Amino acid sequence: MPLEPCYECNKEISTLARSCPNCGAPSKNIKKKTSSIPPTSEWTAEDDKKLLSLYKKRVPEFALAKILKKRLPAVRERIILLMKKN
Ligand SMILES: [Zn+2]
Repeated sequence: MPLEPCYECNKEISTLARSCPNCGAPSKNIKKKTSSIPPTSEWTAEDDKKLLSLYKKRVPEFALAKILKKRLPAVRERIILLMKKN
C-alpha cells in the first residue's frame, strides 16, 4: 500500500485514505484546493467569532479550516489563542 506524508501533520498515511487518521485532514483532492491558501491569511473579528461558535459546537478542526478558508495549523493556533483569552 503506497504511503505519503500527510500535508498537515507529516505522519505517513495511505494514499488511499480519505482523510488522515492522525489529524483528520482530508486527503489529496482537497489538498490541491487548500494549498492555494496563503499560510498567513488575515484573521478578522468575524473569523474569530465564527471560529469560536463553531468550535464550541464541536465542529472538527479540519472542517473549521475549510469553512474559514484557512490552513489547519493556523486554525489550531487561533483556537489556542482564543481559548486563552476567554
Ligand atoms: Zn495528518
